[in-house]
Amino acid sequence: MKPRQHQRFKNQPKPDAHKPGPRKPDDFHLPLTIVGGGAAGLFAGCIAGEGKLPSLIMERKHKPARKLLMCGNGRCNLTKNISAAQMLEEMGEPAAAFLNHALNACPPAAIMRWFEQHRLNLKQMPDRRIFPRTEKASDVLHTLTDTLRDTATALALNTTVGSIETTSHPTAGFIVSTQSFKVFTRNVLLTTGGVSYPKTGSVGDGQKIAKALGHSLLPYRPGLIGFVIDHPWIRARQGHTMDNATIRIICDSRLTYAGEGQLDCESWGIGGAAAYNASRWLARHQPADFELEWQVQGEIIRVRKPATRPLKEAIVTVGGVPLNEINPRTMESLKCPGLYFAGEIMDIDGPTGGYNLSAAFATAKCAVDAARGG
Ligand SMILES: Cc1cc2nc3c(=O)[nH]c(=O)nc-3n(C[C@H](O)[C@H](O)[C@H](O)COP(=O)(O)OP(=O)(O)OC[C@H]3O[C@@H](n4cnc5c(N)ncnc54)[C@H](O)[C@@H]3O)c2cc1C
Repeated sequence: MKPRQHQRFKNQPKPDAHKPGPRKPDDFHLPLTIVGGGAAGLFAGCIAGEGKLPSLIMERKHKPARKLLMCGNGRCNLTKNISAAQMLEEMGEPAAAFLNHALNACPPAAIMRWFEQHRLNLKQMPDRRIFPRTEKASDVLHTLTDTLRDTATALALNTTVGSIETTSHPTAGFIVSTQSFKVFTRNVLLTTGGVSYPKTGSVGDGQKIAKALGHSLLPYRPGLIGFVIDHPWIRARQGHTMDNATIRIICDSRLTYAGEGQLDCESWGIGGAAAYNASRWLARHQPADFELEWQVQGEIIRVRKPATRPLKEAIVTVGGVPLNEINPRTMESLKCPGLYFAGEIMDIDGPTGGYNLSAAFATAKCAVDAARGG
């Protein structure tokens, strides 16, 4: 007996007719692809979703915003209740000039309002730093992911972007490639962060992608980090925190930096906000030689040119994509139209106290607003 043949009727499509032919970029193109689901990327996705701009966030880790969850020792100091002008002044150059437009368009008050309008209760510390009232960074993350859900903004986890190519197609400016699929997209927003705490996913991928698309890169340096110092004064106080310490940097017998704040005595040296902010000054100015001095209740200790802890432990990365290659009013690349940046991937850094997350949120909003108009 012969196997029965399926009878084909007139006009019935051929068996493989449902299979799509070669697809054109129009079939897939997305207005915006956001690479990196950290503070800047998630906030960008929320702003895009609320503005009805379809976007897809691609995040290499199996959970988003691992670094955000570490912020403020898990409490997340998400901004500081000061004016944009004061925040810019305290951040100093080069961030201040570059962030002038973005932070004035999205000042700390607007960041606080956005989170409060999305049902995150906030609390203010005496020094004006802002935290979620629960003091849980996870509540900040849930506010962001709830908004993504409510605006139907896609967040693809376990999705590492390996490369991005430009195309000549009018509506699909880029092909974003992962190990398993490609996305055709009109605009790309790189929010892959700096290079510290690589276990959080911030490993410098975005900087390499930016380089392949025509950008130069500034060398990385630890921005907010402790100093490695073996000194009896520290050893005697190991495990203790000193409030209201003064820290100074002296170059060629001249006082070049002075700051105040908390000083933590650790097994390896000194940390805490006062030390971190001093390290940031050094990362920017890089004096050939200097002395570091700290003063606590009348006692003054001075050491010569201490090393810092490694970059992978820094709270913020100095270096990355140079600011003079990015339009400060739009966050769009001056090298590659349609490519945008937000957050720590750029050479911006601020002191401890909510400045770095504020910069991530403000630059994310600036980029999305520009991509929507573009
Ligand atoms: C311990 C610690 C405490 C801090 N506390 C505070 C604080 O209280 N207040 C404050 O203002 N700032 C704080 N900061 C700084 C702040 O966390 C960062 O400035 C901020 O998270 C930067 O946001 P971002 O979105 O640019 O980068 P990130 O938050 O680092 O996010 C980048 C994301 O991109 C993803 N990614 C990377 N490469 C790829 C790729 N190829 N494909 C897909 N995804 C990719 C990463 O997995 C990551 O999720 C702290 C930092 C640290 C380390």
